[in-house]
Amino acid sequence: MRIVVAKMKHETNTFSPLVTDLARFESRGSYFGNEALQRYGLTQTPFGAFVALAREVGAEIDAPVVAEAWPSGRVTAEAYERISRPILDAVARGCDAVFLDLHGAMVTDVDDDGEGLLLEHIRAIAPDVPIAVALDFHTNLTERMVRNCTAMVGYKTFPHIDTYETGLQAGRIVLRAIKGEIKPVMRWARRPLLTQTLCQATDEEPMAGLIAAVRAAEANGALAATVFGGFAHADIADVGLSAVVVTDGDPEAADRICVDIVERAWAKRVEFVYRAAPLAQSIARAKAMAEGPVLLIDHCDNTGSGGTQDVMTVLAEIMRQGLKDVAVFAIRDPAAVETMIRAGIGAQVSLALGGKTDMPAVGLKGAPLDVSGIVRNISDGEFTITAPMFTGVRAYLGRSAVLDTGTIEIVVCERSHEPWDLGCFRSNGIEPTQKKYLMLKSRIHYRAGFKAIARHIVECNGTGCTTSDNTILRYQRVRRPIYPLDPTVQA
Ligand SMILES: [Zn+2]
Repeated sequence: MRIVVAKMKHETNTFSPLVTDLARFESRGSYFGNEALQRYGLTQTPFGAFVALAREVGAEIDAPVVAEAWPSGRVTAEAYERISRPILDAVARGCDAVFLDLHGAMVTDVDDDGEGLLLEHIRAIAPDVPIAVALDFHTNLTERMVRNCTAMVGYKTFPHIDTYETGLQAGRIVLRAIKGEIKPVMRWARRPLLTQTLCQATDEEPMAGLIAAVRAAEANGALAATVFGGFAHADIADVGLSAVVVTDGDPEAADRICVDIVERAWAKRVEFVYRAAPLAQSIARAKAMAEGPVLLIDHCDNTGSGGTQDVMTVLAEIMRQGLKDVAVFAIRDPAAVETMIRAGIGAQVSLALGGKTDMPAVGLKGAPLDVSGIVRNISDGEFTITAPMFTGVRAYLGRSAVLDTGTIEIVVCERSHEPWDLGCFRSNGIEPTQKKYLMLKSRIHYRAGFKAIARHIVECNGTGCTTSDNTILRYQRVRRPIYPLDPTVQA
């Protein structure tokens, strides 16, 4: 048996000004050919699970690519071709199954549905080969994706800590089908519903009940049941919440379960709208807290959903209100890193920090913040993730330096990285458990590594292209009507 195993992942924020070219994929660690298997074969990811399954059945593995970029703007045509072509070539060489670790929210310059296009091409090359797909919880599902694969399964956790299990589940369905034990059929459903990411944590309502429903469906015999929260920062027709179910030869049951899940979601639609407190009020509330660590969540510039990671609004308010003993992860500013490294550890520097990127899609101009302090640490920005999300994957912050203003230690780095692992601070010489405040450019994923050390969590409504207020996003291509953009829409 020969199995093609590949990973192609990007969550595209069409409002983000960051260009998603091949360099952005490479800067997170993307590999082709033998290196893909060597680097990712043992990671706790769907790709790692697929590799383990293929080895278990003694299959020959053809792993042409692992490619993932941090969320950002549309994927360029060139990058999409460079990453998807090796997968198509591997399928064309002949195989008995295809195992794909995809995101499900890739928008490209050539097509709004990057995954659907890939799957359609694979099906055209190999119409009868079974295809297993593991997807992110933030998938914007399309009919084309469902039509062109055998079994798809999405994560049931946000933060995503069940990625490996998801890969195992999807791959096993296909392996059982090959043996003739089952005949997978798949159905999907959706409602016109944009959900806000801050309302999607899977251990809280309104999402927890939906996750319980899909788990119950699996306990009652469905081969796989998934509810996708969707990714609202994509101005595409197929954006929003959906469900997909795989059963053993029972399309009616699959239909019934899907409809039940999306009906439950629709009934709770009001709960999927996030209502933020004013920023100054949130920082003042944090200032009054006696014990730390207090997490200050800069969710409108969230690295993990396409933020530029250089918006200074929340940090400026922290400075204005005079919070002390703060550590910040992180400002992405390669020029500032260069200045700090040239100055050297112990040197006093003054910087116009961050604010280098305009965000025309949300009507914002980059605004640097003047800060002065001592260069406290310099590092190569590499560490291996130990948190229960992306465990074992190597993190590449680029060259990094810490600016100490006397009250605030700011990690400044060359590349994007969302903080969900304590290593983000520790690799920069900061012990996060010892700080009163930790400002994090994150929305929900920080919980994977930081929730356990936090005494309080304060969501801080700053500015940026990952705003938690959907009414700020200038949608043009989303299918209408859709809730909550059209509050009176009926499903
Ligand atoms: Zn996600």
